[in-house]
Amino acid sequence: MEQNHNNVWANCLAVISDNISTQAYKTWFSPIKPVKLDNSVLTIQVPSQFFYEWLEEHYVSLLRKTIRKELGKDARLEYSIIMEHNLEGNQASPYTVKVPTSHRAATRNPEVNMPIVGQPAPIKNPFVIPGLRKLKIDSNLNPNYAFDSFVEGECNRLARSAGFAVANKPGGTAFNPLLIYGGVGLGKTHLAHAIGIEIKNQTPDKTVLYVTSERFTHQFIDSVRNNTVNDFSHFYQMIDVLIIDDVQFFSGKEKTQDVFFHIFNHLHQTGKQLVLTADKPPVEMQGMEQRLLSRFKWGLSADLQTPSLETRMAILEKKMYGDGIDMPREVVEYLAYSITTNVRELEGALISLIAQSSLNKKAITLDLARQMIDKFVKNTAREVSIDYIQKVICDYFDLPIELLKSKTRKREIVQSRQIAMYFSKKMTKSSLANIGLHCGGKDHATVLHACRTVNNLSETDKHFRKYLDDLEKKLAIH
Ligand code: ADP
Ligand code: MG
Repeated sequence: MEQNHNNVWANCLAVISDNISTQAYKTWFSPIKPVKLDNSVLTIQVPSQFFYEWLEEHYVSLLRKTIRKELGKDARLEYSIIMEHNLEGNQASPYTVKVPTSHRAATRNPEVNMPIVGQPAPIKNPFVIPGLRKLKIDSNLNPNYAFDSFVEGECNRLARSAGFAVANKPGGTAFNPLLIYGGVGLGKTHLAHAIGIEIKNQTPDKTVLYVTSERFTHQFIDSVRNNTVNDFSHFYQMIDVLIIDDVQFFSGKEKTQDVFFHIFNHLHQTGKQLVLTADKPPVEMQGMEQRLLSRFKWGLSADLQTPSLETRMAILEKKMYGDGIDMPREVVEYLAYSITTNVRELEGALISLIAQSSLNKKAITLDLARQMIDKFVKNTAREVSIDYIQKVICDYFDLPIELLKSKTRKREIVQSRQIAMYFSKKMTKSSLANIGLHCGGKDHATVLHACRTVNNLSETDKHFRKYLDDLEKKLAIH
């Protein structure tokens, strides 16, 4: 059989999987894709810089051995890394790290060429207009960011379904442009890619392009320098579905806005689809030309909000399932409870946890999660949330949380609720009024009374004291 990247890599995997644990294999090797084989150079694609470093640190000798076995002593391995977007303004395009497996020293300081789009794709130089009618360009889409892997929740329902509608009928809905906006790490980029991927799946002939506004801006500046502004505009005017990420970056850049305005008009008039993302709604964008803002409002602006606890758990579970990871439900809950504002952080915590456990060969436990979260979110002021306190108390007394949050005056509920108020006062910076609001809609006086009652009881009632101690331990994160 002729050697190609697929069968060479498959042979390597067979050896590797015999040499490491199943969990480590699933975590670090299943996500790798072989990309090409060039003489004795095998290129593999890895999902992130972190991933690449991990492989180099922990598996370099195993990799070297297996690859040499397959390809001879001159074998080399190159990594193509899918860029994590928003890192230093680069977009999700793979770049290549050359790692000569023969010199360990060189791997410490790999030669990094970036950004290079995976194949010698024309987008690297978008100013060359091919003579073909149909543009052949690399869409720059990250296959991991499909609709399938995007968890639906109340927080993203409108944006997701609008995105889906657009994907099914690009240019043919009222959602043109579709502007997706929201805070950091809430899934704007993911959703933008998902739309592009879905369109490519349904109609491979359509020219879809994902580009960050930084990249767009830099290309434009280069085209000014090289006297190729016309080529630049023409290139963009030939796109069927143009996805521009983080358009707030255009603010204050008049010339870029101007050229974008014309591209926008051209595409819109010819029934092409525009998908934009931004960190805020058009009304709040500063430094943006009015005529551009009014264009943004032509279609639909849909926001992404912070996900609810259930959605956060679903996201974690989906991610774990995708990576073939298993971990106790209490750990999932703990992560979802502790990291509330940002899906990217949530994923980061999950990855660190998996890495910790795989490195130290420890099982993923609640304790490990606590230690890790401490390090992970050390710098962002974090306190236990009232929700988390309520949850721990309800688990402990085996009560449904809805009851605790309700107005019911049943004795055992009242007492648990008072304990929840007591810990909320003690462990959070919430006002008495806010605590009351979360605990059955009580006022601040009720909360104060609860705190006194709990203090009194803890001094007089041994059993009660024991409950408090247990709970305090469960709540203590440090
Ligand atoms: P933004 O562009 O808004 O800053 P991203 O799209 O980069 O955010 O999302 C950050 C991370 O969170 C990504 O890895 C993304 O896959 C993940 N993510 C965000 N929302 C969801 C969701 N609803 N379901 C699954 N993953 C999500
Ligand atoms: Mg983004």
